[in-house]
Amino acid sequence: LLTWLTVTGGAVHPSAFDYAAPRDVPSALSLLANHEDAKVLAGGQSLIPMMKLRFARPGLLVDLGRIRELGSVVATDAGLALGAMVLEAELADCPETARYGAVRDAAKVIADPLVRNSATIGGNLAHGDPENDQPAVMVALGANLVAHSPRGERTVPADGFFQGLYETALAEDEILTEIRLPAPADRSGSGYVKLRRQVGDFAIAAAAARVELAGAVVGDCALLFTGLGTTPVRVAANELLQGEEPRVEVLRRAAARAVDGLEIGDHGAYPADYLRRVAPRVAFDALTSATFRARGDYAEN
Ligand SMILES: Cc1cc2nc3c(=O)[nH]c(=O)nc-3n(C[C@H](O)[C@H](O)[C@H](O)COP(=O)(O)OP(=O)(O)OC[C@H]3O[C@@H](n4cnc5c(N)ncnc54)[C@H](O)[C@@H]3O)c2cc1C
Repeated sequence: LLTWLTVTGGAVHPSAFDYAAPRDVPSALSLLANHEDAKVLAGGQSLIPMMKLRFARPGLLVDLGRIRELGSVVATDAGLALGAMVLEAELADCPETARYGAVRDAAKVIADPLVRNSATIGGNLAHGDPENDQPAVMVALGANLVAHSPRGERTVPADGFFQGLYETALAEDEILTEIRLPAPADRSGSGYVKLRRQVGDFAIAAAAARVELAGAVVGDCALLFTGLGTTPVRVAANELLQGEEPRVEVLRRAAARAVDGLEIGDHGAYPADYLRRVAPRVAFDALTSATFRARGDYAEN
């Protein structure tokens, strides 16, 4: 494989495929159901590179780009409903995401503007790539993912959706259609902080945090890491912070203890020892930013 990649420069043409661009979800589902080797195309930012390397060889691409209902962003008192085809660039600064700090933070650090203008939230989640940024955020915020198949509609909690390396709860014939985020509680905030080698890179390690205040102390919180495992890695954050006043020393201590007991393996070029040292840094920053937002200390949430 290495010789082949060297000779070809890793950039070859995809194998031949058919293409369809249905205008509604039922038509897309029927195309998927009737073609064994069909695959959904969203922004193409992960799928097309994989096809060029021939790691994926779909016989039919079902492009979701013309299904208008999948591009909607709706904020209500109950929460935020994101169509699966909403772009990362839109999430980064549309008014509807203002109360969902971690979603905006993550969208802003995904790759570069070119990628963010094509990459979709649904593709980011459905791909099941452990390096993607939105999965940890969605688990931290308690999102529910809506999937459609010929059998109907079902809702899967984000916590449980990511099952392994490029493995999610989605069946081959299912389409992720919507992501539902519950409305943030009063005096709550969230943040996502990513350590990367340079702008545009995937995370070395990153953390998603949600903090809900009850009076002067933490009432409820969540903390998840990206980059420390094949799925988002959850920390028992309430055991570390619930009932505590979230002062800087308290958050720093909780972040340091967040990696205790976690099984951390090497991640690409980064050895486990290094990850164990940098993970508390991103955890502290994410917890701090979530706490500031919960207190209303940020002008822009
Ligand atoms: C240079 C570069 C840098 C990147 N850096 C980052 C980064 O730092 N952080 C990050 O999070 N991501 C990064 N990405 C990945 C990017 O965010 C991807 O676009 C994203 O992971 C996939 O979204 P997409 O819309 O492009 O999906 P596609 O590439 O079209 O699809 C990806 C997979 O998901 C499936 N799929 C897509 N949508 C659905 C759906 N609605 N229902 C069912 N299955 C579906 C497809 O069939 C395919 O298997 C990077 C990509 C590039 C090219």
